[in-house]
Amino acid sequence: MEYAKNILETIGNTPLVKLNSLTKGLPCLVLSKYETFNPGNSTKDRMALKMIEDAEADGRLKPGGTIIEGTSGNTGMGLALAAIVKGYKCVFVISDKQSKEKMDILRAVGAKVVVCPTNVEPTDPRSYYSVSKRLSEETPNSWYVNQYDNPSNAKAHYESTGPEIWKQTDGKITHFVVGVGTGGTISGVGKYLKEQNPNIKIWGVDTYGSVFKKYHETGEFDENEIYPYITEGIGEDILPENVDFSLIDGFTKVTDKDAAIYTQKLAKEEGMFLGNSAGSAIKGLLQLEKEFTKDDIVVVLFHDHGSRYVGKMFNDEWMRERGFIEDENTTAEDLVKN
Ligand code: PMP
Repeated sequence: MEYAKNILETIGNTPLVKLNSLTKGLPCLVLSKYETFNPGNSTKDRMALKMIEDAEADGRLKPGGTIIEGTSGNTGMGLALAAIVKGYKCVFVISDKQSKEKMDILRAVGAKVVVCPTNVEPTDPRSYYSVSKRLSEETPNSWYVNQYDNPSNAKAHYESTGPEIWKQTDGKITHFVVGVGTGGTISGVGKYLKEQNPNIKIWGVDTYGSVFKKYHETGEFDENEIYPYITEGIGEDILPENVDFSLIDGFTKVTDKDAAIYTQKLAKEEGMFLGNSAGSAIKGLLQLEKEFTKDDIVVVLFHDHGSRYVGKMFNDEWMRERGFIEDENTTAEDLVKN
């Protein structure tokens, strides 16, 4: 018989899938590291398990303890799955910008969810950074995960995602393109790939309203770059320790509108039902067109699943309200055409 001893053993070893339609105009081969095959439907399962294992190993997380984290959903899902198998409780602090589906999903896997306002300074006592920190100080036998600065985050991708991509491409990968939030994915994968071949280019996808691109280019933390945005999962108004800027060759920024439209396009034109940051990642990759030549093998990582966004990017009313689509006068002819 061949079976996994528990759900955590199914984390990782996700497929690499070629893009065929959206990338038609590019000279190179574009492959996606399709992370929704993880049991929690996102790449974050990898780092969630790694952060827990490392915290168990050095005693930060003790039997029966409570795991506390500020999470936009996917890390929470990974932590919750591991907590169920390993016997921990979970409290997640989430910002009110996140989709209702994400909050419901976390509650469905047994976590307590605390919702905080998005548009306050990180240092404001109401921010999700501050609330998660305070709750961890007040809760006995608790462990504050802090995925932004926890080195086990990037390490998980250094130990699993990076080696998988290298092996699956027979070491032929030339470019890696990925959205950046905590920085764990880009830094872990980037470090592994550059150690195998320093010529591999590592590109980060950022969003308007986030500090990464400007900081990478100028070394200046420019407050003017920070403003509210809709894109989920990528971009920050802080500099997480997990972003290793020295490994990154460049950033490209994608608008909220493009990210939303390309999330829909991935579903409708590739049959890839993915989350909002996948739309950002593929649009970012297309913006980098001039970087690629015919022999290149470009890998883009898709972080999470479309089911978490059915009330948002996959809802035309939501898209219309934000001016992302204008198709009020759809005719019968249009419907047949599409
Ligand atoms: N996309 C989604 C949907 C995410 O949840 C995250 C994590 N915040 C990212 C992209 C960015 O990944 P990382 O935190 O590893 O930079």
